[in-house]
Amino acid sequence: MLKRKCDRCGKKAAMELPYGPHYFCREHFLHFFEKRVRKTCRTNKLVKPGEKLLVAYSGGKDSSVALYLVNKIFGKSNKVEALLIDEGIKGYRDCALQYAEKNCKAWGIPFTRVSFKKEFGFTMVDVMRKTGAKKKIGSTCAFCGVLRRRLMNKYAKKLGMDKLVTGHNLDDEVQSILMNVCEADLSRLVRLGPIAGISSIKGLVPRIKPLWESPEIEIIAFAYYNKIHHYEEQCCPFKWQAKRNTYRAILNQLESQFPGTMYSILSFFRQAKPKLVEKKREVKLNSCKECGEPCSGSTCMSCKKIMEFKKK
Ligand code: SF4
Ligand code: ZN
Repeated sequence: MLKRKCDRCGKKAAMELPYGPHYFCREHFLHFFEKRVRKTCRTNKLVKPGEKLLVAYSGGKDSSVALYLVNKIFGKSNKVEALLIDEGIKGYRDCALQYAEKNCKAWGIPFTRVSFKKEFGFTMVDVMRKTGAKKKIGSTCAFCGVLRRRLMNKYAKKLGMDKLVTGHNLDDEVQSILMNVCEADLSRLVRLGPIAGISSIKGLVPRIKPLWESPEIEIIAFAYYNKIHHYEEQCCPFKWQAKRNTYRAILNQLESQFPGTMYSILSFFRQAKPKLVEKKREVKLNSCKECGEPCSGSTCMSCKKIMEFKKK
């Protein structure tokens, strides 16, 4: 227990946020956290009145908190629904989705559950079995992410939703910024931000990130103090392959040694993005000849991956 007192009320502090530094009791931490999410939504104009919001809900901490808060903040003025995607990772995603279904029912939020197996005819376990650990098909997570985004877009359109909400947090975003800088990938870099992409593209439902400025550790605390039950038993068995693990470790070390580093990187990106976007010409999008989804070439990335997988 911390010896310091809450900055707001003088009660014993339960949380220390070293980048402030801020000290908060439980109640004032929850207030501070929610206020910041509201500010992220307001200043970045993430949600317009009456827009229908589809939250991609995995049952983990980030999307649980995103769904809870989006429903709390916008549930009265906007339609809020959840999309549960089952990649077919037994002992992991099926368990996580049990939490997702339970929370949706408890919060009265309609949900749609879809699966890779039904949509594509295979699961991520099949992909791993067939391709081995790190074959040409790309890392498992990149494969999984492409297909998941495809389903998100497909179902957002099918359900008539205006925006897709994801649980990406500050740590995720800063890791992505650093990864793209290290790989000199300007195209991907400029697509980051609280609204994914650089402009609205016909056929692509905009993806928004209300937790863009919320550190992961505070999301865990927010869920804990609010008794938001979420899946936390184990990581995805394929997660060890993710390149971002290395970036996570480096950034966590920087943050603990120099508190506020993650916010500084985010702030740098926020200032640089408009200038970078100017330099980046808009990509003209076509319709994929296989599935009809928007893409820059003639076949979209998810169809390419599926064909590559089926060939093996
Ligand atoms: Fe998919 Fe990778 Fe996430 Fe596992 S860790 S669910 S493989 S993106
Ligand atoms: Zn207090």
